[in-house]
Amino acid sequence: MPEISVFTVLVLTAFNLFTVSLALPLLMGRQVSRAGRLAQWSLLSQMAGWVCIIASGFWIGHWLDWALSTASMVFASLTPWLLFGALEQWLGPRPGKRLLLALVVLMPLGYTLLFPHYSPRVGWANFLLAAQLLVVARAALWPERPARKHWRWLLAGCHCVGAGFTFARGVMGAFFPELYPSFQTAHPVNVGAQVSANVILVLVTVSVLVAWRDEAEAQLRTLARTDGLTGVLNHRAWHEQAATAVAHARRHHQPLTVMLLDLDHFKKINDRQGHEVGDRALRLFAQALREEVREGDLAGRLGGEEFAVLLRDTSLNAVHTLDQRLRNRVLPEALPSLGFGLPFSAGATELQSGDDQIDMLLKRADQAMYTAKANGRAQMVLG
Ligand code: GH3
Ligand code: MG
Ligand code: MG
Repeated sequence: MPEISVFTVLVLTAFNLFTVSLALPLLMGRQVSRAGRLAQWSLLSQMAGWVCIIASGFWIGHWLDWALSTASMVFASLTPWLLFGALEQWLGPRPGKRLLLALVVLMPLGYTLLFPHYSPRVGWANFLLAAQLLVVARAALWPERPARKHWRWLLAGCHCVGAGFTFARGVMGAFFPELYPSFQTAHPVNVGAQVSANVILVLVTVSVLVAWRDEAEAQLRTLARTDGLTGVLNHRAWHEQAATAVAHARRHHQPLTVMLLDLDHFKKINDRQGHEVGDRALRLFAQALREEVREGDLAGRLGGEEFAVLLRDTSLNAVHTLDQRLRNRVLPEALPSLGFGLPFSAGATELQSGDDQIDMLLKRADQAMYTAKANGRAQMVLG
């Protein structure tokens, strides 16, 4: 079998990375998320690393060998660091960040200090790089929330294989330098490492693209669930989630309260101050509502200037507190920013044994709210 030239495979790796680094920004567009951008930079950094190491081979014995090799280690370290950043954006805080940062700083630093000594420097660089890759592999899988996805397994697997080969390279360089006198040596470990680098590069790119698609899907789902103007749940999402909450409360015999809120004389605000001021008023009210309800409660905009809140595990007498909190907050906030108060009428009702549908509660709350309007507005009536 003809011998595989490590140099050729190396150049191929760099060339592949170059095309991928060029193609990804074109494919993902200008509006790409921060995570997508970090993943792109990670691949670009990896390419820069390989280019530097190839270039260094032409300057053996010259100070440029030292400079290019050190630069290559800086880029090699930045690669997992940037990908870790992308994972944090996609999956939330990841464990091992400080350890990774230490490895990212120490790897090139130690490499450059140990540069005159082949075995220690090659061992150092590869062992620390392997550790970096393992930290990324772990970050791809744990903690598993949000849901485990196949791309996370793929990314973790690639990084484990990469870590294995990198570790083997470190062992060769540190303990068997006569078998591995240069990064271009055609030793099976080195050939395997370089060939796998190409395969890993393809699979990491695929993982990044799938992660990015997942992100876009999640954004679309959020968009489909939220009201564009105010950011609270839209009518459909509120209704769906409220129906689930009612079923859950019935099964577990837990109290549950639904409250409807409607801004008073809102039409006049629009007529006198303009639609834009009306929109600002709606946003202010919705924000107050969102921040005053407890986590797990559902705040939604049912339409126009009418909002709904579902309070889990809450009986009717507790709803007064929310009503008061909201009134105490909205008035002093609305006066300076809008120039007028924002009174509202509310109707609330509690889950009763005969209620098997959210619409039954909504109907009672609506009647109670209607009574509040008839009684002179700016108050809450219990249904
Ligand atoms: P009431 O006290 O009886 O509730 O009187 P109201 O004027 O608040 O009620 P009405 O239902 O007559 O008017 C609601 C108004 O809300 C009509 C509409 O112009 C306004 N509105 C509905 N959606 C929006 C919106 O998205 N933005 C703005 N600015 N106004 C809206
Ligand atoms: Mg109204
Ligand atoms: Mg209304």
